[in-house]
Amino acid sequence: MTTPTILIVEDESAVRQMLRFALQQQDLNIIEAVETIKAEQLISQNPPDLILLDWMLPGKSGIEFARQLKRNPDTQNIPIIMLTARGEENDKVQGLESGADDYITKPFSTRELIARIRVILRRTTPITNDEKIEMEGLSLDTATHRVLANKKPIELGPTEFRLLHFFMTHTERVYNRTQLLDQVWGSNVYIEERTVDVHIRRLRKILEPSKHDSLLQTVRGAGYRFSSGE
Ligand code: CA
Repeated sequence: MTTPTILIVEDESAVRQMLRFALQQQDLNIIEAVETIKAEQLISQNPPDLILLDWMLPGKSGIEFARQLKRNPDTQNIPIIMLTARGEENDKVQGLESGADDYITKPFSTRELIARIRVILRRTTPITNDEKIEMEGLSLDTATHRVLANKKPIELGPTEFRLLHFFMTHTERVYNRTQLLDQVWGSNVYIEERTVDVHIRRLRKILEPSKHDSLLQTVRGAGYRFSSGE
């Protein structure tokens, strides 16, 4: 197995050192940048398996950089964990909506961070059995990792891909947030249920132009259902 590479983008050297020390003990490769220009260079030379991205950076902010990476097809599949000193609920949502896959507030324990990194690295390992699933003009191919809406390719982040894959293979039934977390993210105490809503919203937005967002239904007080019916 190859050792996963983690890119740390953080301007505070004490935090960077602490992260490097903790992650190297976990048998992870570490590359580092103090701001986003250097980070961009490192990403193009050697795309990391995950990015730990500080929110407050000199120059471009972590949020702006996350948006930029998620807009670029070459980098949009690299998972991002935002690091921040802010604890406001609004900031958390803003962080996730910028395209970050998870969010951790400073000061955090390295144990918790490592657990979250492990969840994401596991999650981004590809779905192994090749299958093609089709529903109402929406088709998902696990071998090529492609999704077509009315024969046109659509771009999905890794979490949205897994979420859509789960829904398309589990139609009609209603799943609550806890069940979706277990099924799509893997059982983990650290991820909040609100994260599910953010990714559902993102997935709906992606499916909107082809009108496939209507398949992803909210069942009030119960959860979500993927269905072509009313
Ligand atoms: Ca900082």
